[in-house]
Amino acid sequence: MTWKIPLSDIAMGREEDDAVRDVLRSRWLSMGPVTEEFEAAFARYLGVKHAFAVSNGTAALHIAHAVLGIGMGDEVITPSLTFVATANSILYCGAKPVFADIGGRDDLNVSWEEIAAKVTGRTRAITVVHYGGYACDMRPIMEIARDHDLRVVEDTAHAVGAAYGGQKCGTIGDIGCFSFFANKNLSTGEGGMIVTDDDRLAEKIRTMRSHGMTTLTWDRHRGHGYSYDVTDLGYNYRTSEVASALGIVQLRHLEQNNERRRRIVGRYRGALAGIEQIECPFPGKTNGDSSYHIFPVVLSADLPRAGFQAALKERGVQTSIHYPPVHLFTYYKRLLGDTQGSLPKTEFVGEHEVTLPLYPGMTDDDVEYVCTAVEEAASG
Ligand SMILES: *Cc1c(COP(=O)(O)O)cnc(C)c1O
Repeated sequence: MTWKIPLSDIAMGREEDDAVRDVLRSRWLSMGPVTEEFEAAFARYLGVKHAFAVSNGTAALHIAHAVLGIGMGDEVITPSLTFVATANSILYCGAKPVFADIGGRDDLNVSWEEIAAKVTGRTRAITVVHYGGYACDMRPIMEIARDHDLRVVEDTAHAVGAAYGGQKCGTIGDIGCFSFFANKNLSTGEGGMIVTDDDRLAEKIRTMRSHGMTTLTWDRHRGHGYSYDVTDLGYNYRTSEVASALGIVQLRHLEQNNERRRRIVGRYRGALAGIEQIECPFPGKTNGDSSYHIFPVVLSADLPRAGFQAALKERGVQTSIHYPPVHLFTYYKRLLGDTQGSLPKTEFVGEHEVTLPLYPGMTDDDVEYVCTAVEEAASG
């Protein structure tokens, strides 16, 4: 199926082509100097001490929970309205994800009140997700963490470039985890980054992403030692020089692309404001603090989603759903019990949310086309 307006599209050009060709000609493809350059540029951009490139965002989340010492018997509070990788990464460590509800139909982020209500003697961490690129309310969340001595992981997969109170998302909690998957704001096909200001955690992250080894192939190539020790149970979560070369160029264009996304969202909001059965969450969040990763709308209960999405499909407009709630998946029900009804706001959004196309290359005419299609789809 070829869409008239796809859900998302990568913004890439000649600079990326050139950067990849330079890596191929260098004949050094595994993690090395280009990755070091990408990490330094990313850390500088965020204003954080340490940044480690990894193979994908899920690997970043796994390492984050592992280096925080989260394990068997521990609980981690996290939203259910997220991509399954957030909760999976907690399970990888043997801990239990405890799901907290969102703020409501107009605030799809996990709510600090709901987090506070889920804290028990076993809680070790809070893993937030900045849904759609809109920052969670981090001030009260960090207060809860301080009061109960909990660690905070930020799943920043949607929120590269976003900020909260002037501080970049991913640098507020103990560790920030980014994804550079093909549909993210900064894309390298597959890729991710872990950031932290904590020197002790940084050392653990550095070794864990490469088998717990004390040196890299690149270090030995440069003559920095012949051997290595293994100090931890690590993984192969390394990235490649090709991905890092793409990342360097993509990072240079990020602000400009996020600004274009902001303008598109402004147009969407204006055009859809008059449609009664459609609510645009995060009203008022228009000042550029968001990275505007996706454009979610919530349909009223009397507008069936399947028919709405089918009508858009007929008009060549691709849509998606963010997200089917994690606690309702078969595997999670089998593991944690059937808790349907326990997160009413998440479940409502899980049934009534539709994600409309959003990418920097969308023209104003494209946005107008989608809005007209939405209006027709909503009026049946
Ligand atoms: C994309 C995404 C991830 C996982 O990232 P990958 O790079 O695909 O492993 C995790 N959490 C959220 C919220 C995401 O959107």
